[in-house]
Amino acid sequence: GDKPESTKVVAPDGACEEAIAVFKDKFKSAPTIVVAAPGRVNMIGEHTDYQEGFVFPIALDRKCVIALAPTSKGYRIYSREVKDTLQVDTLPEQPQDGDVPWWSYVVGAMRIYCDAVKKPLPEGFDAVVLTTVPLGGGLSSSAAVEVASATAMEVAVGVSMAPMEKAVCCQKAEHEWAKMPCGLMDQAISCCGRAKHAMLLDCRSKQPSLVPMEADDIDVLIIDSAVRHALVDGAYSTRKNQCQKAVEIVQKKHPKVTMLRDVTLAMLEDAKAAGEIDDETFRRASHVVAENDRCLQFADKLKAKDWKAAGTLMYESHASLRDNFEVSTPEIDRIVELAREQPGAYGARITGGGFGGCVVCLVDKTKSDAVKDTVLAEYSKFLETVKASAEAGLKVDEPRAFLAEPSDGAHIYKT
Ligand code: ADP
Ligand code: MG
Repeated sequence: GDKPESTKVVAPDGACEEAIAVFKDKFKSAPTIVVAAPGRVNMIGEHTDYQEGFVFPIALDRKCVIALAPTSKGYRIYSREVKDTLQVDTLPEQPQDGDVPWWSYVVGAMRIYCDAVKKPLPEGFDAVVLTTVPLGGGLSSSAAVEVASATAMEVAVGVSMAPMEKAVCCQKAEHEWAKMPCGLMDQAISCCGRAKHAMLLDCRSKQPSLVPMEADDIDVLIIDSAVRHALVDGAYSTRKNQCQKAVEIVQKKHPKVTMLRDVTLAMLEDAKAAGEIDDETFRRASHVVAENDRCLQFADKLKAKDWKAAGTLMYESHASLRDNFEVSTPEIDRIVELAREQPGAYGARITGGGFGGCVVCLVDKTKSDAVKDTVLAEYSKFLETVKASAEAGLKVDEPRAFLAEPSDGAHIYKT
């Protein structure tokens, strides 16, 4: 396999320098350990990971950086984004009941990593956490902060693990400490991403395969809808449970099926004809089954540089997430429609778990600036009408767009 065996050590860059500067300002000394882990954008293969299916993410050049210095006693962890410090003699041993505080992601990943390599946590440290991944924007700032935290411990205790195993530790942290029952995609790409590549991941075998994204004639454009809907907590686990329910229905006739990964559309059609599955569960499951297929086809089309066919699969993925899985929003749908009208846009879809966040577009490199400017201008007009009739709890920011630069997974800075 063409996969990294250990965490890369790289020369300091701007993000590293920034973390060192914040650390010096905060703690009046220099950090000895500086590490980073990226956010991601998923090209296709959405809501498939927790059913052992296929995903196709890219690690971004936006990342979470942690600068840390061991001390003899006590812990101070400062987040630049939240502007808060966790200052304690002993790190919390258990996740907190109720709301998830920001430091859960950090402490959870650190504890689980150290447990997994059978090392005690350092007896004390000061740390700065900062990120260039927007928080809660669908680009997985959560996996970035978890993987950076685990990587900081990897260096601090001096024991490494295979990147995919580290991803599994971080997924466990997200489950147990952030109470989010996610699949493996975000942590896997944040650990195993590679510059100039996307990653086709089989979430059953956990075998990543790197696909070159170096093409000089396409760009991956990310457009942030800048809208956060309230009251979507629980929608993710509802979807996940509906998928499991579909599996249980199909299992009655096909006992070898353990996940939607094993299910075909014909099996779902049979169950529907026999009146065994309700319409909503059918639509949820058929999304996942077809999406796995689209994801594999997408990888082939990309390798063949058939941008048009790859893009068509993205539009199909979007329609299915909108109509069958029902995780899109009117704002996201509008951005996808606008993208589709632009010359030079091959495909566009919602990316990430849904209910807001970002759209990912595959565009002709020579047209990407024009696509970006036109879609942003038109979408901003649309947002004015959204704001005018805003439902309670709707948070609207400034919409933004930027190009995804396929980047390396977690790395350690040479300090
Ligand atoms: P997403 O992963 O799409 O960005 P999530 O809701 O899964 O959204 O994760 C966002 C949460 O991760 C934040 O609310 C915060 O608790 C935590 N987080 C991420 N980055 C940081 C950071 N730099 N400092 C503190 N908390 C962070
Ligand atoms: Mg997240």
